Amino acid sequence: MDTPLEVLHRVFGYDSFRPGQQEIIETVVAGGDALVLMPTGGGKSLCYQIPALVRPGVGVVVSPLIALMQDQVDALTALGVRAGFLNSTQDFGERQEVEAAFLAGDLDLLYLAPERLRVDSTIRLLEKGEIALFAIDEAHCVSQWGHDFRPDYLMLSGLHERWPNVPRIALTATATPETHQEISSRLGLDAARHFVASFDRPNIQYRISPKSEPKRQLLDFIRTEHPDDAGIVYCLSRSSAEKIAEFLSDHGIAAIPYHAGLDARVRALHQARFLREEGLTVVATIAFGMGIDKPDVRFVAHLDLPKSLEGYYQETGRAGRDGLPATAWMAYGLQDVVQHRRMALEGDEAHRRRQALHLDAMLALCETVTCRRVMLLDYFGETGTGPCGNCDTCHNRPDTWDATVPAQKVLSAVYRLAKERGQKFGVGQIVDILLGKKTAKVEQFGHDSLTVFGVGQDLSSAEWHGVVRQLLTRGILAVEPAHGTLVLTDKSGGVLRGHDQVSLRRDLKPRAAGRTMKAKAGAPQADLPAEAGPLFERLRAWRAATAKEQGVPAY
Ligand code: ADP
Ligand code: MG
Repeated sequence: MDTPLEVLHRVFGYDSFRPGQQEIIETVVAGGDALVLMPTGGGKSLCYQIPALVRPGVGVVVSPLIALMQDQVDALTALGVRAGFLNSTQDFGERQEVEAAFLAGDLDLLYLAPERLRVDSTIRLLEKGEIALFAIDEAHCVSQWGHDFRPDYLMLSGLHERWPNVPRIALTATATPETHQEISSRLGLDAARHFVASFDRPNIQYRISPKSEPKRQLLDFIRTEHPDDAGIVYCLSRSSAEKIAEFLSDHGIAAIPYHAGLDARVRALHQARFLREEGLTVVATIAFGMGIDKPDVRFVAHLDLPKSLEGYYQETGRAGRDGLPATAWMAYGLQDVVQHRRMALEGDEAHRRRQALHLDAMLALCETVTCRRVMLLDYFGETGTGPCGNCDTCHNRPDTWDATVPAQKVLSAVYRLAKERGQKFGVGQIVDILLGKKTAKVEQFGHDSLTVFGVGQDLSSAEWHGVVRQLLTRGILAVEPAHGTLVLTDKSGGVLRGHDQVSLRRDLKPRAAGRTMKAKAGAPQADLPAEAGPLFERLRAWRAATAKEQGVPAY
């Protein structure tokens, strides 16, 4: 029998194992279970492929990536590995052929879509053959906490009962301590050895800029830094993926769209072009990328805020898999937050709250005044790393400024509207009021007679949006998801009363250089009458109640 190292040389043609691979492979070869957390591009596939070749029987690989199964099997076949797959894209004849090969012992690896395990005939088939191991790829799909939940993955816990002596290896690139825990308990892998590779991707430079003219900013970024490179641009909606691809093409950047609304043939074609051609940019929704193995993606750009840090890390992790320098670039703005809070309306209460927590974590990364990499690794449970010296905040430590007074003005405006008029408005109206703009909507509601009307002419509209965004990020102000309207939170009071200071990133440079804004002690602007108390009480009670009921911290 070949050793794992011999198989690595002979079959895959690689010189040496990557960090972690050998130990994982030896564990599974010896019949032990393994839970593998390794970043995208770390080399998870070999961790089950080699044991499947070394152990007698067939390695059964459960994977949600149906679209990639054919490619994976083709790649293995080219290496002389006997591989097949079973999924819903096949007709009866094709399935029968694979099943016959399995029964005849002519397969080393069998890829299975998770829904196949719902079918009794699949279970009966597996029972008739010899199984070397079960590999559960993209194992985070079992997590309801995560962003890729697949109900069929819950069935995978049953494998161990039917095949108690067959080793199982679960693999994922998504691993907050919560997901990790959930994978382990849902798949019954408590006795498994856990392998956690470092999530650090030192060759990726993380940069996040405030969004002003997103298309123009993206174009400038690609033109100046990656004009002829392969890259992925992520957008939230299908229509913006189409529009941005067209915009880039019109401006001389080779770009094609990819999203789940495209015809399957077009999708396959665009994916194939991206893999084969050089210097092509794919403008995509999150439908693109899971399992895509293209080593020389030089940049990943986000034009909209991802839903979670897990998503962001996985998506940006597709850049620079060859270890060469790559950029993770993002533009984000207040509208993203409002849009996410609106989208987060779907689903039940618990789901909405999870979404909100994910979004808060995402925003915390955007608004951090310290190293982005440290914050990311911290989130994934890797503490103790020093500043990377490479991300935008390391290069250019963000200026902060004392924004207590402007924050008070925003909060007063929101409070005044609620208190004096019984009204709630979105950020646009609040900013117009502070700027003293007599827009049609301001006049319609008579907002020019509010005491806060025009008190904010010292900042630009963009700066006010920046202030509001940061207040939202820090939970000092909240958006009601249903209408996108601003409301106070239990943290608002401290700022309004001048007990708490607000220090913000000076992301949007002030118009006049050298202008300073200092909160005066005693904060004369604090426009908070005593009657404001009940408002906070109500919010606090609501947040405490909902948090308690769901067993999660209030947000
Ligand atoms: P993951 O599933 O962790 O995202 P893959 O298994 O797809 O990563 O591997 C990513 C790339 O790294 C592939 O091109 C693979 O062939 C390559 N690779 C994996 N292990 C090694 C190794 N030991 N030496 C060289 N290349 C490797
Ligand atoms: Mg993989």
